[in-house]
Formats: sequence, C-alpha cells, structure tokens
Amino acid sequence: MRVLVLSDIHANLEALNAVLEAAPAYDMVWNLGDIVGYGANPNEVIDRVRTLGSVFVRGNHDKAISGIEGLAEFNPIAGRAAKWTRCVLSTEHTDWLRHMPAGPIMPDGPEVSCMHGSPLDEDDYVLTVRDAWLPLTKSPTRINFFGHTHLQGGFATNGEEWFRITPQYAPRGAVEYELPLRENARYLINPGSVGQPRDGDWRAAFALYEYEGDGLDAQRRVIFYRTPYNVKQAQERIVRAGLPDRLAARLRDGR
Ligand code: ZN
Repeated sequence: MRVLVLSDIHANLEALNAVLEAAPAYDMVWNLGDIVGYGANPNEVIDRVRTLGSVFVRGNHDKAISGIEGLAEFNPIAGRAAKWTRCVLSTEHTDWLRHMPAGPIMPDGPEVSCMHGSPLDEDDYVLTVRDAWLPLTKSPTRINFFGHTHLQGGFATNGEEWFRITPQYAPRGAVEYELPLRENARYLINPGSVGQPRDGDWRAAFALYEYEGDGLDAQRRVIFYRTPYNVKQAQERIVRAGLPDRLAARLRDGR
C-alpha cells in the first residue's frame, strides 16, 4: 500500500498542483488539515483535494474559517487571512470544512493515526523532542502522522533513546529522503507543509507512507519529498487578492 500524506496546503493551488504532479503512484491520500487559510485559492484547493479521497482531519484554520472557533488565537495577519477566506469561500465548502473530523483518526488498522497537532490535542504544536515525549508515550498507535508546525520530519523513540528526524537533501538533485520504520520504535511523522513550508526550504513538502504485508512481517517506510512550484504566481495571487504582503513574501523564504 502506498499512501500520499499531505498537510497544511493553506489554499496554495500552485503548490498543491506541483505536489500531485511530482508524487509517485499512490493508492490513497491522507490529509492532515489546514487545507485553507493564508493562500489565495481556497475554493479551488478544496475542489481538488475532495477528488483525492475521503481521509481528512481538520486543522485550526479549517475550524476558524468554518466558524467552529473564533479568531482570538490568531495573530493579526492570520486573522485577516481567515476573514478574507470566510468571505470568498462558497457555502458548500464552508459546510464541508465544518464537518471534517477532529484528529486523531485511525484510517488504516491499529498501528497508525492521523492528526493535525498532536495525538493528545489537535491544536498542540510538536516542535521539539521535549514536546514529542508525552504524545509518543501516550498515543495508542505506534505511527502517528501530524502537521501544524510546517516543519518536515518528526520524532522517534525506541523507549530508551529519543530522536529528531530531519530529512537531508543534497543541494542539487535529490529531492527524496527515505526513512525505514523499525518494528520496535514509535514515531511522530510530519510530511511538511505543501503550501507554506517554514523550515527554510521554499519547495512544497509531502511524504509517501509505504508498507507491505502486515503484523510483525510488515515492511514499512516513509519517503519525504520536496518539489519546486510556481511560487511567483502564488505570490501574485495573494497580492492581487488584497491579502497581507507578508503572506506572499514568506513563501519565497520558506519561513
Ligand atoms: Zn498550518
């Protein structure tokens, strides 16, 4: 089975299209939330992701924009973008966002969960090994896919040692990084952000989760990817929409 794992698309249609073009063959798509917010094409992005399947968990922007939550937790720029998105989003798409499930969900048997923030709280940020300790200890599943931080990689433990996972890419050429998953370890894995990466690499991020067999014999691995996209066009659309300039500028910096 090959699963395309996407997170934090943030209404960036250029990045989403580039990811779907660059992705190797896959059997299904899991989406970890924040489909909208920040970017200029929320309706088009929702149309496209809805054609990809039905495994979704909601993010904090999806909640705020669909009216499940207010904007009190948002900084002024995120708040302006959320208000703009509320205005332009179709009623049908708003309704669809409002009904997305909260994470964690278990889309595929007892080993794997999907969530936006952390297995313990959908809105928590898991940024450090310290943040990862409790979720990795308490999560009922061994393999946990999360988003929210816009940082590709994640965390792992074998019960004694704790690791940060940071995909390494050659400056030129290689755009994939393979992580074999060991049977005796527990993982928090972030595919990175499709539409607004914040790890200093502007290229759209995503991951493929692959497994063969089941039980103790299963072979599992995650492959992290980066792909360039038409960032200039995404920026122009943001500026033309009247969204804050900062949201356009940060795309080029990957911050
Ligand atoms: Zn996000």
